[in-house]
Amino acid sequence: VLNGLGSVKYEELFVVYRGIDELLREASVRIVGPEVGEFTTSFAMAGLSLTMCWLTDELEELWIAPASTPAFKRGVVRWEGEKVTAAPQDDRSLPIEPGSVASRTAASMGLSALQAAYAALDDAAEELGRLDAVAGDGDHGLGMRRGAEAAVKAAKTALDAGSGVGSLLVRAGEAWAGAGGGTSGALWGVLLAGLGRTAGDERDFRLPQIADAFVHAAAEVRRVGGAEVGDKSMVDVLVPFADSLALSVASDVSLGDAWRAAASVATLQADETAKLIPKVGRARPLGKRSVGSPDPGAVSLALVIEAVSAVITGCEAGLGKEGDDP
Ligand code: ADP
Ligand code: MG
Repeated sequence: VLNGLGSVKYEELFVVYRGIDELLREASVRIVGPEVGEFTTSFAMAGLSLTMCWLTDELEELWIAPASTPAFKRGVVRWEGEKVTAAPQDDRSLPIEPGSVASRTAASMGLSALQAAYAALDDAAEELGRLDAVAGDGDHGLGMRRGAEAAVKAAKTALDAGSGVGSLLVRAGEAWAGAGGGTSGALWGVLLAGLGRTAGDERDFRLPQIADAFVHAAAEVRRVGGAEVGDKSMVDVLVPFADSLALSVASDVSLGDAWRAAASVATLQADETAKLIPKVGRARPLGKRSVGSPDPGAVSLALVIEAVSAVITGCEAGLGKEGDDP
């Protein structure tokens, strides 16, 4: 299967295939049912992938059998009156339960934080794509931008409907996972929904609750993604960030001071991932190539954390005069 990643012309793919065909024939390899086209694309990424597989008799029969799926078609498949049932209603269309006053105040800060995240990711999209292209598929910047954009939209809708911070974050997470795509999109969905579920729509959402929410969300991301600290992923930033916030709860500091300290830990840890070899994700097969460059998912998470720092600092400046902790 010679697969174009998005921006390679079909003519060019066929030219490449001619060379592959010649080489395989010279090596006396019999080619069965070759496919040239776009099967697994990554936005408008330049480049291609070649997949070869040795067939057994059984696999050969299955490989050339008629198939009809959204991603792959071969020959003609006859449908014999099978019923297609509609997918269950999306629960995002359910009305929002209004949150407590404290939780709605936190929700409006949540929206500002997501907007700041989007702005930072929008600026960094090209650089994040470049980092992901070192050993991955180059889509991280585009994916994060799309995810954050959808999350902001969902958060706005939730806030307008009087949502507390918990539901706002859960909905933002669902939107991010739906639009972001890629592994990082799914894991950002888990992260935001994890924060939202711990936060709820009733309680205050100040430093102790925020730290607690990050500790829980970090555990969820590790459980779902299966990555641990040291595997070269966003987990290398998320876990020490959450730990740093949690530690600051005991020492009587403001949210802003705690966040800024944890944000420096996050940025440092993101840089440190440059030394690691990836053990998870798409970068694993070309892992050695990534030594010397930081993990794109770790870098983007640290960028978002730094962008949120500025939002918290801004809130403090607005509230600080009355001595109130935002
Ligand atoms: P994809 O790898 O599907 O193309 P992205 O390029 O958007 O998705 O995101 C890649 C980033 O996702 C990696 O840099 C890494 O931080 C993170 N990632 C990948 N797999 C995992 C995992 N199993 N657990 C945690 N983070 C992961
Ligand atoms: Mg990628």
